Amino acid sequence: MDYLPVFLDLRDRRVLIVGGGAVAARKAALLHETGARLRIVAPARCVELADWCERTGAEYLAAEFSAGHLQGVALAVAATDQPEVNLRVCRAGREANVWVNAVDDPAASSCLMPAIVDRSPVIVAIGTGGASPTLARRIRAQIESLLPQGLGELARRAGQWRGKVRAALPELQQRQRFWEDFFDSALALRILGSTDAPASRAVESAFEAQLAAGRAAGVQGAVWLVGAGPGDPDLLTLRAQQLLQQCDVVLYDRLVPAAVLARVRRDAERIFVGKQPGRHRTTQARIHELLVEHVRRGRRVLRLKGGDPMVFARGGEELQALTQAGIVVQVVPGITAALGAASAAAIPLTHRGVSQAICFVTAMGEAAAALDWRALAAPLQTVVFYMGVAQLPHIVARLIQHGAPPERHAAVVERATLPDQRVVAAPLAGIAAAVAAAELAAPALLIVGEVTRFQFQSHRGAESG
Ligand code: SAH
Repeated sequence: MDYLPVFLDLRDRRVLIVGGGAVAARKAALLHETGARLRIVAPARCVELADWCERTGAEYLAAEFSAGHLQGVALAVAATDQPEVNLRVCRAGREANVWVNAVDDPAASSCLMPAIVDRSPVIVAIGTGGASPTLARRIRAQIESLLPQGLGELARRAGQWRGKVRAALPELQQRQRFWEDFFDSALALRILGSTDAPASRAVESAFEAQLAAGRAAGVQGAVWLVGAGPGDPDLLTLRAQQLLQQCDVVLYDRLVPAAVLARVRRDAERIFVGKQPGRHRTTQARIHELLVEHVRRGRRVLRLKGGDPMVFARGGEELQALTQAGIVVQVVPGITAALGAASAAAIPLTHRGVSQAICFVTAMGEAAAALDWRALAAPLQTVVFYMGVAQLPHIVARLIQHGAPPERHAAVVERATLPDQRVVAAPLAGIAAAVAAAELAAPALLIVGEVTRFQFQSHRGAESG
């Protein structure tokens, strides 16, 4: 992070604007809204600015900028069309310990002005570190369309009610939960959706009723079994995104991508329950215990798993344990690795006349021996093996031994959907050697079937054949 975003309280603080043109006038109008006392310095000024100074009583000094103008100033804006003047303001600011923003000139600035979405008291500031003001404006347009006009009113009311809620619900967790529920409630939607504030008396009494109900309900725990998808955080479901922002505690394992974890609410507790090099894996029984324990403590628990929670993820066992403890679980699907890999490597899993069935298999450990290998070796289908890369030679040997032709095509996709995804494709007979040569590592999956030939036509990133 190259810049720290902060919100400045400029009420009754002196702010210097250097420049007398239209840009200076625009900045003056913006800064005036914060309640700052403006001092404008320029040898000459445009009519618009002169008029504006008259109306607002802003101080105007008809002079070239000099360091003395920074006296008693909290923030300075250089809005001239002369880069050397802007630079002079910036240097003088550095000497005097005053933040300086030069309009559209990050090199002559010690702070940058963000693009703003204003739903006061909610303010969204967008910066690109000076890289692209145009991009910042586009992001602003997107956020503008996301945030209803009534958001400011909702925030203002919530601010007024804080004291009341604090008095009624002494525990922090209880209050957080109450507010979460409140912002989802019909009352909040009503305030959001109304262009003019709904009648205060009705809103007040509706809020009182909701607060009383919240106090009576106490804090209920809940648990969600959530799929985090194969890697790319943009492949999360909308519901998973929402839950990541609402939960109190997250239990996650190794395959949950870092970029997804980064989207978990900042103050949520994160508990790693996967296998760490050199350390023991948290046992499945211990995971069940932790889940039950946290729900009983009234927390919103997210059990986050790579891919989909119902595919090779022991989701069934966790559902069973929680149900036995009398806890209702909600399951949120994720994109399983096979589907993520197929899309990211542009391999169709079915194709007319080539593959009419898909089989997801895990061939890890001893259970592999019990699989129906003859069925897996049959033609006209696609078989996706979730696996450790070390298993690959055994899988291939078994398939060929049970009738798969050595020239049947296959592909291994490593780190599917992540920026460093790699794909190696070859006939069955050569796939293990090709994967070893490319030094592919976990997580990876093997796709067996003639559909893997298509990858060559449609995917530019294919590494080998
Ligand atoms: N529940 C998960 C599967 C967990 S089993 C899901 O639905 O995807 C773990 C196996 O999934 C790994 O050994 C690997 O074969 C596969 N896998 C998970 N993420 C992957 C990824 N990004 N790329 C390739 N394979 C992946």
